[in-house]
Amino acid sequence: MNKKVLITGSGLGGLTTALRLANRGYQVEIVEKFSTPGGRLNQIKKDGFTFDMGPTFFSMTYEFDEFATDAGIEIPFTFRELDTLYAVNFRGSEKRYFIHKDLDKLAEEFKDVEPDFKNKMEKFLKRGGDFFHAVEYKILKRNYNNIWDYLLAMSKVNPKYLPKLWRTVWDELDRHFESREVKEIFSLVAFFLGATPFDTPAIYTLLSYTELVHDGYHNVEGGMYKIVEGLTGEAKKKNITIHYNTEIVDYRDENGALKSLVDQNGKKWEADIFVVNSDAAYFRGKVFKRPEFSEEKLDKMRWTLAPFTLYLGIDKKLDEVPLHNYFLGDNFEEYSKKVFKNTITFEKPYYYVNVVSRSDPGSAPAGKDALFVLCPVPDLRFKKDWSDKEIITRNIISDLSERMHIDLDKHIISQTVMTPEDWGNAFNLYKGSGLGLGHDLRQIGSFRPKNFDEKYANVFYVGATTLPGTGLPMAVISSKLVTERIIKKYGLLHT
Ligand SMILES: Cc1cc2nc3c(=O)[nH]c(=O)nc-3n(C[C@H](O)[C@H](O)[C@H](O)COP(=O)(O)OP(=O)(O)OC[C@H]3O[C@@H](n4cnc5c(N)ncnc54)[C@H](O)[C@@H]3O)c2cc1C
Repeated sequence: MNKKVLITGSGLGGLTTALRLANRGYQVEIVEKFSTPGGRLNQIKKDGFTFDMGPTFFSMTYEFDEFATDAGIEIPFTFRELDTLYAVNFRGSEKRYFIHKDLDKLAEEFKDVEPDFKNKMEKFLKRGGDFFHAVEYKILKRNYNNIWDYLLAMSKVNPKYLPKLWRTVWDELDRHFESREVKEIFSLVAFFLGATPFDTPAIYTLLSYTELVHDGYHNVEGGMYKIVEGLTGEAKKKNITIHYNTEIVDYRDENGALKSLVDQNGKKWEADIFVVNSDAAYFRGKVFKRPEFSEEKLDKMRWTLAPFTLYLGIDKKLDEVPLHNYFLGDNFEEYSKKVFKNTITFEKPYYYVNVVSRSDPGSAPAGKDALFVLCPVPDLRFKKDWSDKEIITRNIISDLSERMHIDLDKHIISQTVMTPEDWGNAFNLYKGSGLGLGHDLRQIGSFRPKNFDEKYANVFYVGATTLPGTGLPMAVISSKLVTERIIKKYGLLHT
């Protein structure tokens, strides 16, 4: 018997779930609030420039391979492994540290600040790697029906890793390295998770292993949005329709099951099964109006950093700027601990810069460059008013100009700014939090919002705020987990 699935949201989690289910014979339809597909993995086209809106690189490409096989398609885009992962500059210094996978080259970068670097790094990465392989299948890539299930899974992991639960990423680096530069640079993985190394459990040092040893970092030929273009192309072949500018705001139930979701125009979208790719905590509060996910309760949860992003078109080539860069200051610990609570000014911000057109020349007209800047800032709980966005923009541009020895202001011919408010409004991100719910111990595993609904047996969730967590490969794993649940309940409709 045919079953209709309605997916709310066309983010990476929604699209990959749609394709996995369509390959099992489910009839899939998607409703999307935004005007284009992809969610945070979106695109901005302006003044002849093309920018990826959010993600710029990722690891664990093999999750996309697994997805393609499962969905019965060829991967419709081309990965490109980054040779140099990124460069880091500290304010007040001309030195740039280039982060390579090759440990000899990496050791050369740190030879003046960290004696015996290679040996120390090998030990650090070995520990991260051992832990990664100990938990990858036992904990990360699996569903939990309840807390006992989760605790049982945890009990199967060697107890020698237990201290990683209460140590922080910073503590772990501090046990292995002495120099401020090494510790600060390799603690940036905590920011990739949307938090700081001072409040992220040491278990996440496994990310250094995934970036430096296991799979490295990759982007996509022609820009990250090729992922979305490729997936929507495949969706079309499988008769999956996507309805844009359609926001789900209400619901109707009948006999204990969800009957339909209702959009902003009052139109009812009926289905047998519903998959929610909107934020799994926010949706439960905003649409299902569950008291456990009221604004008061959500405000008390730990959310990831909010993005302040700039998309700049430059009238010349910036050959002096590497592809991916982190520009850090000289007060790392103080800045990290204060920035998300809005208790430090943005006069001297920390930020990331990607020269988009370096890897994708088509994204800028000839002789010009496209720049993407991401500055982690407080979410709307801590900073509601973004009317100072022009001041923050000027601070970033003047700092970057100083550090690159070029008056960037004179060369900017296109400028777009997105504040946390804009991000929140575009994709229903709770209070503008960029990566969804944070990943401390109280918000992972069975403590994270579940990928099945508490009340309706025909409702499921996929994406950054449910299992397993944030980032592109995690969204792909999330679609695998939710598909497993649906198949277990409703079966294969055809093979
Ligand atoms: C600035 C930034 C930079 C990032 N950089 C990286 C990176 O370099 N590497 C990496 O791996 N990850 C990165 N990430 C994280 C990554 O983008 C996300 O983890 C991932 O894209 C989340 O996908 P998703 O499917 O969970 O959700 P989303 O992409 O948020 O998709 C959810 C979709 O649901 C829609 N929706 C929401 N509510 C409704 C509703 N009520 N009705 C209809 N539609 C609705 C939204 O509009 C959206 O399209 C970054 C994120 C940001 C914000």
